[in-house]
Amino acid sequence: MHGKETVIKPALHSLGLNWISANFDTDQFGTFSGEVERVNSPLETARKKCQLAFDNTDATIAIASEGSFGPHPMIPFLPINEEIILFSDREQDIEISISSLSTETNFSSKYCTTFEDVELFAKGVGFPTHGLILKADGMTKVHKGIDNPDLLQSLFEVLSETSNGCTLETDMRAMFNPTRMRHIYSAAEKLSSKLLSYCPSCHKPGFGEERLEGGLPCALCGLPSDSILLKEITCVHCQHQSIITFPNGKQVEDPQFCSYCNP
Ligand SMILES: [Zn+2]
Ligand SMILES: [Zn+2]
Repeated sequence: MHGKETVIKPALHSLGLNWISANFDTDQFGTFSGEVERVNSPLETARKKCQLAFDNTDATIAIASEGSFGPHPMIPFLPINEEIILFSDREQDIEISISSLSTETNFSSKYCTTFEDVELFAKGVGFPTHGLILKADGMTKVHKGIDNPDLLQSLFEVLSETSNGCTLETDMRAMFNPTRMRHIYSAAEKLSSKLLSYCPSCHKPGFGEERLEGGLPCALCGLPSDSILLKEITCVHCQHQSIITFPNGKQVEDPQFCSYCNP
């Protein structure tokens, strides 16, 4: 529905798949603009989208993506975007997913009472290359996908006749949000490299479920720091584990990052 195949397809070209872009109503699983609430987790929602494709086509593989936006868990005023892409192969019974986080997003909203407010907000979020949503008080009217300054002005003027002001939101649907589209592309590239790595034990694809562990010793005092000491990769199929020590090529940490030497 949102043209994400335009970036997912090129990012996964090395898999050599034959593609069908399945145009189903995936809004039934939730919308960013709030008309339909997403009830399942992002991964579960992507799984339902894949199932919808399997139910309606002969395809053996389905790929679905699901995005989420909200405040950064550590820095509440900073918005963050998570993209999940799920690859599901019903013939081989393989499901591989990746999650990618990015703070590069224009996700925001503002209640505006004057057109000057509207213009200021629009300018700050990359309008008109990035689309906007205009909502009247009480969501009595919702205009989505606004990507034209004249249209924005006339819609605001009409809404202002019956309402004190209106809520302006960034349209986070991929085809109205090139910043998000770029993130989906890089997430799909991550999925591609995960799909092309095979487990050394069971030889199935998708070897790349990573867990990072801190504790790199300080170069001066030798105490463990918070920096990465090792990377643990687990096979999602057979649970085989590979451990890579010093994955960033550093065996000791600079004392400036040591909480003992530089508290
Ligand atoms: Zn394995
Ligand atoms: Zn130290």
